Amino acid sequence: MSGPRIGILGGTFDPVHVGHLVAAVNTRYELGLDRVLLVVANQPWQKVGSRPVTPAEDRLALVEAAVRDCPGVEASSLEIERGGVSYTADTVAELAEREPGGELFLIIGADVAPMLGTWRRLDEVRRCVTLVIVNRPGTRLDARPGGPLAGWQVTSVEIPALEISSTDLRERAATGRPLDFLVPVEAIRVIRERNLYGDSR
Ligand code: ATP
Ligand code: MG
Repeated sequence: MSGPRIGILGGTFDPVHVGHLVAAVNTRYELGLDRVLLVVANQPWQKVGSRPVTPAEDRLALVEAAVRDCPGVEASSLEIERGGVSYTADTVAELAEREPGGELFLIIGADVAPMLGTWRRLDEVRRCVTLVIVNRPGTRLDARPGGPLAGWQVTSVEIPALEISSTDLRERAATGRPLDFLVPVEAIRVIRERNLYGDSR
């Protein structure tokens, strides 16, 4: 196979942080991927209804700013252009069509693995990608036969453990605590310009 090797790291990125970027660049390096796409969810079906989600255009602007100087890592607006609720199955199908002969690697943090069983059209996704699991502090992977990874072509990539989450960052910003070195400086600039996340100075 000679097509491109493409990593897909989907997320809400509300906001993007260095945990996402460390996952992207290290997976790209370890697996020799040509590109890693940070695919910004339009309406993340897991999160809709549970909390207000920042407008997709703002989250995309943050990711674009964050990856501007990061070769091989790109922001993808594919799910935003598609509109509506974002399902990974649609994204994978679209990328497979755009890159015939390419190989797709779906990158998820270990916290997402237990949720896989709830994904829509799981079989389609499973057929089209190699699942790449990166470690995430506070979660241990259930790799038992019959567990959530059964039936997947799966590999794992060990990355520096960073105990950072967007949830924590939103809370930090709202209470005026610094985001510096947790969120790329270019993205912090966008947060300030657009006045996102409340009291960020
Ligand atoms: P939230 O707290 O809002 O859920 P998050 O920090 O988990 O935000 P997401 O946008 O939900 O960020 O995550 C997108 C993807 O990146 C998921 O697969 C998630 O597991 C992974 N990820 C996020 N933060 C880290 C981290 N610190 N280390 C490794 N993987 C991470
Ligand atoms: Mg999350």
